[in-house]
Amino acid sequence: MILSILQYGDPILRAKGKQIAKIDDHIRDLAANMIETMHAANGIGLAAQQVGETLQLTVLDVSQIEDRPSTLKLNGKDVDPATSMPLLLINPEIELSGETEIGTEGCLSFPEITGEIERAELTMARAQTLEGDKIEIEASGLLARAIQHEVDHLNGILFIDRMNSAAKAALSSRLKRLQKQTKRGKRIRPQDEQALVGETL
Ligand code: ZN
Repeated sequence: MILSILQYGDPILRAKGKQIAKIDDHIRDLAANMIETMHAANGIGLAAQQVGETLQLTVLDVSQIEDRPSTLKLNGKDVDPATSMPLLLINPEIELSGETEIGTEGCLSFPEITGEIERAELTMARAQTLEGDKIEIEASGLLARAIQHEVDHLNGILFIDRMNSAAKAALSSRLKRLQKQTKRGKRIRPQDEQALVGETL
């Protein structure tokens, strides 16, 4: 089932995800729906908060992106990232290493907005699978960037928080407009809608 993706302005995007203590049918259904939703939106990653669930669960798939390569080691073994997707991480913890690099990012919760974001080159993520097994994922390239972006979501951090102040200032009116649209989409009470009309763009 394709889920609707929350947009910037929805407070759930700012909530830290709870640890998943038990992998039950709800988690299995949510995971399957998140993968379907990510693919339908042509995204390379999706976090539970983006579909309204404050849980430590994210899915990733960089297999369709050929011009921005990735490397992947699963439990210490080199594997082909293209054939190992989608990846699903439950309760991930990450360590960052290597240099930092700047790259372009977009976010499914920020339609048509991109930014240049500084991230670590390498990530080591420890997480659980849907079967409850522990996995270690070492990544570089686009996948390392995507993992950092998604783990940020799980902690209520958004990519605009990592833009430099000039970039954020340049986007300010678009961000305000998006927040406003998000609020309107939630069919808020008319008197609140009236109050929004006076908001500076
Ligand atoms: Zn995002």
